[in-house]
Amino acid sequence: MGKMKKIIVLMFLLFPVECFSQTKTFYAEGSKDIKKVSLTFDDGPGKATKKILEILKENNIKATFFMLGVRVQNDPEGAKAVLASGHEIANHTYTHINFYAYKGEGKAIQIEKELLRGEKIIKDVLDVKPILVRFPHGYAKPDAVKIAKNNGYSVINWSFGADWENMSAEEMHAKYRKAIKNGAIFLMHDLLKNDKVLSFLDVFISEIKKEGYEIVTVSELLNLKH
Ligand SMILES: [Zn+2]
Repeated sequence: MGKMKKIIVLMFLLFPVECFSQTKTFYAEGSKDIKKVSLTFDDGPGKATKKILEILKENNIKATFFMLGVRVQNDPEGAKAVLASGHEIANHTYTHINFYAYKGEGKAIQIEKELLRGEKIIKDVLDVKPILVRFPHGYAKPDAVKIAKNNGYSVINWSFGADWENMSAEEMHAKYRKAIKNGAIFLMHDLLKNDKVLSFLDVFISEIKKEGYEIVTVSELLNLKH
């Protein structure tokens, strides 16, 4: 076989392998073809975590908790309660630095440090290596995505979230309800009391189910393996 021919055959052999090995690293929603959605809770464990765990348990569903290293450090029992309830543990970095606004030196180094410090505390307290990270404020620029990928993570944002906005609980509930769709990833927070979300979470879950959706963890929604 001539050298050129060999190269062409090699290219054909390698190309499909290359295709299959390329997995996405950044997601803000799941498949549009499947009636599944995920609920995600950020910044905890915190004041709303316990009540949220009760509501999830009553409804027999699993959610994904993007935990902050500092919070896990301050409230290891709260973090353990989330894990013991069978929910997915994900990394939300150590101290919640907003990398959109970051002006300091060595941004990439700082991003990786935040990711790995969060991971270390989660590992130490829960003995879990998270595979999902959500950077604070949904930072998902190529630098962060690359760092996440190099450390065995997928970066997860959300298709809808509004619990930090200034509106009544009724308006907020209506907005969440309207955002139910195939592959939706809902963002809520459990650091503060979050009375608004707690006032409608149970009903919201019923509404999602009534519309025929299954509520699953983010890694299940996206078919990512732990
Ligand atoms: Zn956050």
